[in-house]
Amino acid sequence: MALTRREFLKNSAASAAAAAIGVSLFANQSVFASETVWHKSVCRYCGVGCGVMLGVEGGKPVAVKGDTKNTINKGLLCVKGFYLHKVITGKDRLLKPLIRKNDKLVEASWDEAMELVAAKFKESIEANGPDSVAFYGSGQAETEETYVANKLFKGHIGTNNMEGNPRLCMASAVGGYLTTFGADEPVGSYDDLDHAEMFFLIGSNTAESHPVLYDRLVARKKANPSTKIVAIDPRKTPTNKIIDLHLQVKPGYDLAVMHAIAKVLIEEGYTDEKFISDSVNFSNGKEPITYEEYKTFLKKFTPEYASEQAGIPAEDIVKAAKLFGQTSRVVSMWTMGVNQRIAGVWLNNLIHNLHLLTGKLGKPGSDSLSLTGQPNACGGVREGGGLCHLLPAHRKVAKEAHRQQIADIWNVPVTNIQPKPGKHTMAMFDAISKGEIKNLYVMCTNPAHSLPNLNKYLQGMKDCFMVVAESFHPTETSKIADVVLPAAFWGEKEGVYGCTERRSQYMPKALKPQGEARWDADILIDLAKRLGHGKNFEHFKSAEDIWNEYLKCTKGKDMDLTGAPYSRLKEVRGLRWPVPSVDHPGTTHRFVEGDPLFPKDKAEGRRMYFYGKPDGKAVIFARPDKGPAEPVDAEYPIAMMTGRVLEHFHTSTMTGQVPQLVRAVPKPYVEVHPDDAKKIGLTDRGMAKVITRRGELELMVKLSDRPLPGNVFLPWHWPEKLSNLLTNDVFDPGSKEPEYKVCACKVEKA
Ligand code: SF4
Repeated sequence: MALTRREFLKNSAASAAAAAIGVSLFANQSVFASETVWHKSVCRYCGVGCGVMLGVEGGKPVAVKGDTKNTINKGLLCVKGFYLHKVITGKDRLLKPLIRKNDKLVEASWDEAMELVAAKFKESIEANGPDSVAFYGSGQAETEETYVANKLFKGHIGTNNMEGNPRLCMASAVGGYLTTFGADEPVGSYDDLDHAEMFFLIGSNTAESHPVLYDRLVARKKANPSTKIVAIDPRKTPTNKIIDLHLQVKPGYDLAVMHAIAKVLIEEGYTDEKFISDSVNFSNGKEPITYEEYKTFLKKFTPEYASEQAGIPAEDIVKAAKLFGQTSRVVSMWTMGVNQRIAGVWLNNLIHNLHLLTGKLGKPGSDSLSLTGQPNACGGVREGGGLCHLLPAHRKVAKEAHRQQIADIWNVPVTNIQPKPGKHTMAMFDAISKGEIKNLYVMCTNPAHSLPNLNKYLQGMKDCFMVVAESFHPTETSKIADVVLPAAFWGEKEGVYGCTERRSQYMPKALKPQGEARWDADILIDLAKRLGHGKNFEHFKSAEDIWNEYLKCTKGKDMDLTGAPYSRLKEVRGLRWPVPSVDHPGTTHRFVEGDPLFPKDKAEGRRMYFYGKPDGKAVIFARPDKGPAEPVDAEYPIAMMTGRVLEHFHTSTMTGQVPQLVRAVPKPYVEVHPDDAKKIGLTDRGMAKVITRRGELELMVKLSDRPLPGNVFLPWHWPEKLSNLLTNDVFDPGSKEPEYKVCACKVEKA
């Protein structure tokens, strides 16, 4: 599909959405007063990591524009980024601490609030042990903030009950990278988007969830009209505007399709046999198998079998496979449609399989690139070790040497760090519901909106002593907290975000925090002091001090960032690790020559050496196909899918502050196919009741042919109608990530 400039602009997600609400996303500097001071920063929203310039006039945020020097977005922003400055002064900014008295949240001084928090934590730790308290953080917190929390909870309080919301969005991608390549995070980078000849999108509504990357696909297609885009998605989305082939699968039934594509690739001779023999092992998930045994495993997965499973034409599967095989450079991209699944890790493995079979990896224009939902899920939580089994810089609590290395940096006895992983997110909230965890500190996230099957967990959150550090109030979580601490927001604090492509970028403090808001790291250091652990935190006088200590943790690791001190990050538009020295340019492709960790001596002529694996070989997995945990049945005959819209971000805590975005998509709704609506007696803009085994919601109906008959779609952004009262909390046994994406429901006229 060749695109003219006119079509390019029409198809651009960012410009289409901007036009809808009447703005230009390429902000023109001339419209701003000469006193406007522009600060180079990074977008606060999604994991794309767009560079932004924050305009400040007289100490107030007046505008945001795209950073033209940032190679990620080259000046372009989506509507969310464009209005980011409005969030800073949003109507719900929390300006003073709140504590619960007589069942009401009332204003308090910082000292009163912090004394209460410290007393409650101390009391619980002394009476019930360190595992009676927990921390729940965020892929939107800065790396420095997560680092301080990690040091306090794992190293000083002595509990590994420390999690972050990336568990709910990225954990399956982590599991996929670790099992396949032996190391987390992508092999390639965004640079590959400019060289790819085919994009293979699966479970990704790129146009709405990662709009600026979508615009890069549009641009690529314009520059190179023969570029093909194939999408596997159970729903038609705005991304369809530029795709060449849509495999509209039944929700939750795409594993067989991926195997069928692999089978066609092998049978049609599209494999790279030298690459396979040099760099690939095979496994059935329990033990090694041979290439021949893998081929035998694939016998069952004919295009016809996959077609039956997924409800799509067999010839489309063959077509997709041939496009993958015939095109020399392929980038696969996926996100929550793959990760938020009972078989999320396995599906990640199956995507990597296609790249390993064809050798389309580790060279310009080819990569299997997991797209990240939050701006610092990769940086703070994955790399920073903000999950219950991790320590900073891709270390594990279970490994004695790792505990020792971190204990030395934290200046604590190694025995302070427990060797047993703490409770993962769903287990943590389950333990809260059972009263086993009595105190919870929540930073920069909104679990009373974002957890699945909320009816099961809300009471526990109300009953435990919950502290919420947050820039906005009310949120569903702050409303039920015992203490709410006003946190400084983006632009009011400095720190680092690490985005999808291993790039760490610096954000400056350009403004004074609103009201009495304080930087999250500062609040945590205050808590550390009040708990008697001040000695190992008092040298943190600035964000740079924390970053410098964190850099010590990364030295010599696969995610070496020692070449990225603040002095350098302030000048450049981010650096992609490994970046082991200040004169190193950063790494666009891992496991190949040019990666500073590539072991030439061991590689012995191999193009790629996956140094996270003992023999340097990645793994192709023969995973069984597995449908959703809750298939449709006679009682609940409709598949319910959840997802996002372009104008809102997650629980809309931030986008809800921007009138233009609220007006663009003001209300919750359910998308229903007209055929189903006719059968049920629903009309456009009428009301429907959506019922699952866990709850029910009355929602406005939007008739749409985006879902297939038999499926409905709910965006999850609005607090007044929580789609998570309906979603299933069953999780992938490997990644512990819940299956938000699909469950069974029935729909009635309300
Ligand atoms: Fe921000 Fe993501 Fe939009 Fe870029 S694409 S401006 S990072 S929300």
